[in-house]
Amino acid sequence: MDYDIVIIGAGVVGLAIASELANLKKEILVLEKNESFGMETSSRSSEVIHAGVYYPKDSLKAKLCVKGNELLYNIAQNNDIPYKNCGKLIVATSSEEEKNLSPIMEHSLEIGAKGVRVVENTEIKKLEPNVYALSAVYFPTSGIVDSHSLMKFFYGKAKENGVDFLFKGEVFGIEKKESFYRIEIKEYDGQISSVSTKIVINSAGLNSGKIAEIAGFDVEKLKYKIYYRKGIYFRVQKKLANMPKMLIYPVPPEDSTVGIHTVPELSGGMRLGPYDFWVNEIDYSVDSSYLDLFYIASKKFLPILEKEDLSPDMAGFQAKRYGPNEKSRDFIIKEESKNGFPNFINLIGIESPGLTSSPSIAVEVKEIVKNL
Ligand SMILES: Cc1cc2nc3c(=O)[nH]c(=O)nc-3n(C[C@H](O)[C@H](O)[C@H](O)COP(=O)(O)OP(=O)(O)OC[C@H]3O[C@@H](n4cnc5c(N)ncnc54)[C@H](O)[C@@H]3O)c2cc1C
Repeated sequence: MDYDIVIIGAGVVGLAIASELANLKKEILVLEKNESFGMETSSRSSEVIHAGVYYPKDSLKAKLCVKGNELLYNIAQNNDIPYKNCGKLIVATSSEEEKNLSPIMEHSLEIGAKGVRVVENTEIKKLEPNVYALSAVYFPTSGIVDSHSLMKFFYGKAKENGVDFLFKGEVFGIEKKESFYRIEIKEYDGQISSVSTKIVINSAGLNSGKIAEIAGFDVEKLKYKIYYRKGIYFRVQKKLANMPKMLIYPVPPEDSTVGIHTVPELSGGMRLGPYDFWVNEIDYSVDSSYLDLFYIASKKFLPILEKEDLSPDMAGFQAKRYGPNEKSRDFIIKEESKNGFPNFINLIGIESPGLTSSPSIAVEVKEIVKNL
């Protein structure tokens, strides 16, 4: 046997798992198709440490977000990873929207978010003088983190503890043998190689459905197929970067989970986004024709914004387990003996709050591995 554990994918989730499993004294290999870690979804997010708002009670998303929030602040604090506990407001700009605030607050408290409360106009003016809102829900545990530094920390910790990494190593085949798996890899020079492993951990992000499929899972039946939801951002001129300082979110619109919000950056800049929509292909371009839409959506709560302040920025893709007109589905994080694949752990549909949840997902996976 070459390895005890092979982890497919070095995004924030695969890296968090590698660093968490590293002290189990097992032989571990991480396979990553790109030349370095975190070159896909994990470096194309809002970098928000979520408090826990948008996910159904008793879902893995809710549980792992609330737990991940606490773990992530601890990790950042203790390891010099830049972060800011800036807090967040979900703002109502009409009396119609105000009706949604109490249910949002109650739901967040129910799933475990801490210190959430409704704030009135006078307090909002003190907190954020440049924001227009009739009232808002305040989330004191929301913040932002430098996701690249976080990934670098997980990577370093895993490496120090003996985890092997193969970059430019794309998994294209997985064969189940009697008591192990053979993984086929296309390397950077086109050379084909393979490794054997007792345990497979599929954390391949946008490709997690495809990895399950090549291993032999019936992805349609199991609802493991991944659909792409593109999220685009516009950059705001630097002069407005600290106005506001907090994360300002709208009441979630019907066609999006969160809606276009402010994305303060630790480097001192600010983005707005994401505006998200279904696509069939990965294309990271951002069409400037969305400028009006961004302006109209953000001007409602940020009256100081002018059209000239906006320019197209970046895009990222959420790996979702459901497509257009389907109801939202939860993360899959499970060992697959029941589906005929013992010692195969699938992580599928790790969309937002996947960054926040990365440390708690890693703890969850460690518990599974310890019981194998
Ligand atoms: C627009 C947007 C905004 C977001 N905002 C937030 C936020 O504010 N807060 C939050 O908590 N979450 C947020 N998220 C979600 C979060 O970014 C993701 O949940 C998280 O980054 C997923 O990490 P991952 O490691 O699963 O996936 P990835 O980062 O995609 O990593 C998967 C890795 O697997 C590799 N891989 C794929 N196929 C193969 C193969 N065949 N062989 C080898 N390697 C392979 C890929 O190259 C990649 O590096 C956001 C996401 C998007 C798109």
